[in-house]
Amino acid sequence: MISVLRLNHRKRDKRITTHCALTARAFGASGMIFTGEADPHIIESVEKVTEKWGGNFKIKHSKNWKKEIKNKKLKVHLTFYGERLEDKIKELKGKNLQVIIGGEKVPREVYEKADYNISIGSQPHSEVAALAVFLYEYNNHKMPENFKNWKIKITPSKKSKKIKTKQ
Ligand code: SAM
Repeated sequence: MISVLRLNHRKRDKRITTHCALTARAFGASGMIFTGEADPHIIESVEKVTEKWGGNFKIKHSKNWKKEIKNKKLKVHLTFYGERLEDKIKELKGKNLQVIIGGEKVPREVYEKADYNISIGSQPHSEVAALAVFLYEYNNHKMPENFKNWKIKITPSKKSKKIKTKQ
């Protein structure tokens, strides 16, 4: 079971924070908390996706990341400075994790509070990419297929758009 903590959201990062949440949901996390500037539009748009496409994904905002660091869970901070994912993923699989992703400047304390600082390659890229790769590895290269209470669902198809809908 994985929950995501997205640090230091700024209003201009609205799309990225939304993409973090949609990626977390699509790749099997149970929810995401974002800290920094509040933005009800992000919550609304992610909740709309869940209502339509199903599942139980929870999203909320918090002003204070320190309060949101979950000491009951193993805390895995994704950073390009960290230890290699390939070397640590076996230790992490199957455990209840809080995955922490940054925005611009990640406070030093996050590195210290984390049980693991993990890199997805040692080059800078994006929190969305880092989260997707981490979740995909954690879930043994599988993505969840059954989102409960869906109203809309895609049937994979070679060329056409096949959509099922339910009221
Ligand atoms: N300068 C920031 C810092 O102080 O760490 C990094 C900014 S980066 C655009 C935003 C976030 O993407 C990081 O905080 C980290 O969570 C994630 N990220 C980027 N590249 C990564 C990598 N190679 N491995 C793991 N996470 C990465």
